[in-house]
Amino acid sequence: MTVQSQGSLEARRISSGEACLGSVPPIWVPDAVATHCMNCGVKFSVIKRRHHCRACGKALCSSCCNMKFLLPYMDNKEGRVCQVCCNALLRAQALLEVTENQNNENLTSDFDSVPQDFAPRRCFRRR
Ligand SMILES: [Zn+2]
Ligand SMILES: [Zn+2]
Repeated sequence: MTVQSQGSLEARRISSGEACLGSVPPIWVPDAVATHCMNCGVKFSVIKRRHHCRACGKALCSSCCNMKFLLPYMDNKEGRVCQVCCNALLRAQALLEVTENQNNENLTSDFDSVPQDFAPRRCFRRR
């Protein structure tokens, strides 16, 4: 499996942007590259249709990408997301609610494990 330098850069961008999941349009994996589901590895065909997760942009089969989530970058419309993203989005949402409800400094110590670039306030800024 060869990973082009550009590809790994993109991947890093995707992973570091995980906190912004759903807030920014993902980089869609091109159809030409995505011949198999990036989650379960099933081969796409006429019957097995390819779906793009609207949050991470991965190409997935219908059973791996069967969740729906209101995505901020889509004007809070329902977008098709994969199960991984759905979980991540739910976690981010829960974290955001906690941060918003108890917006004080005592809380920061509880989130020591959260990476530096996890910046929900920046990413999920309300209009
Ligand atoms: Zn799949
Ligand atoms: Zn996804």
